[in-house]
Amino acid sequence: MRNEIKLEFDAISVNEAFARVAVAAFVTPLNPTIEELADVKTAVSEAVTNAVIHGYDGMEGKVTLHCTLQDKRLHIEVRDAGKGIENVEQAMEPLFTTRPELDRSGMGFSFMEAFMDRLVVESTPGEGTLVMMEKDFAKTACQTDEEE
Ligand code: ATP
Ligand code: MG
Repeated sequence: MRNEIKLEFDAISVNEAFARVAVAAFVTPLNPTIEELADVKTAVSEAVTNAVIHGYDGMEGKVTLHCTLQDKRLHIEVRDAGKGIENVEQAMEPLFTTRPELDRSGMGFSFMEAFMDRLVVESTPGEGTLVMMEKDFAKTACQTDEEE
């Protein structure tokens, strides 16, 4: 089965919940376990929150959520055209945050890495950030529908 959705929404924090629910609905045909669902929702939340809080930092902008399902592999891209990340490697380290004053704990990328099977981050300062994540549902999902 192949399926693809692309959503674009305003970079405001209320849309974090929208993105989370959209992805949950998108993977429903895979009969995900509650844990798999929670993992994907958390990862998407973290990526979208980062786009809103760090990427745009209160400025107007758009976030795109692009999800592709190929058989039992989910590929997610969260993109912003915000300020970008100077040092991606450093940003991805556990506990690294540039916003401690906002009570950020610097664990967003670590959660994405832990809850998904693959995580790749591309960013250009001044241009924006692209977070790509993948999760394989094959291990536990029991799909009853016939393969298309
Ligand atoms: P937490 O996610 O635990 O609340 P955090 O957002 O600071 O804290 P991470 O999500 O791991 O932690 O991100 C680490 C750092 O990477 C951020 O502090 C920020 O500087 C930078 N960053 C992450 N995403 C973006 C983005 N989309 N645009 C610009 N900078 C980003
Ligand atoms: Mg974060």
